[in-house]
Amino acid sequence: MSLADRLEGLRTRIQRAAAAADRDPSSIEFLPVSKKQPLSLIREAAALGFARFGENYVQEGAEKAAALPDLAFVLLGPLQRNKAKSALQTFTEIQSLDRPELAERLGRLAEELDVVRPVWIQVDLWDETTKQGGCAEADLPALIAVLSGDARLPLRGLMALPPPGDDAAFTQMAGLRERLQQDLGRSLRLSLGMSGDLEAAIAAGSDQIRIGTAFFGERSY
Ligand SMILES: *Cc1c(COP(=O)(O)O)cnc(C)c1O
Repeated sequence: MSLADRLEGLRTRIQRAAAAADRDPSSIEFLPVSKKQPLSLIREAAALGFARFGENYVQEGAEKAAALPDLAFVLLGPLQRNKAKSALQTFTEIQSLDRPELAERLGRLAEELDVVRPVWIQVDLWDETTKQGGCAEADLPALIAVLSGDARLPLRGLMALPPPGDDAAFTQMAGLRERLQQDLGRSLRLSLGMSGDLEAAIAAGSDQIRIGTAFFGERSY
């Protein structure tokens, strides 16, 4: 199946889910996730109109960004402190910010590099035995406090990977977004939903869905 065919199928899924939730489908951003996919497929997706792609690994993202300078890449994967500088040089947005120390470091480096990089906070919805990354709900205020003093790292929203089949996680994220919006007095975007659960994400009010395999096909690890 071609990317165009898969995209058509995905557009249908998005439209149905949006209609069921009484939402405007054009308000939902489709972010293609190109990790472990070849440059040729990213070029094909760019020809279909996509200009921004999600990546999970700093090194892989840096190589792709160098090879495809007209496209923008967003970091979705865990970020180690020793890769922070390279991440700021490679990605136009960091969606996996999950701890105050990292925010402080990114802030200092953004100043040094003289760049502004919108960030999203990744919220941990898993139990502590997994390594999906993300900030525990209880630790959010400390992280937000670091960001609120830093104009170089504007906070765009909340990102999460709900555990498969965990419907309550979507409702939890919708509620968390609502509470933080009240506290901060401004709107925050929500990025939930991947190939397998975009319907639940749209029902929960997600503004962005991050689609890898259902668009590009299986990843070549
Ligand atoms: C890999 C990944 C995706 C895409 O997952 P698919 O199931 O292939 O659609 C989305 N978000 C994050 C954070 C990912 O790591």
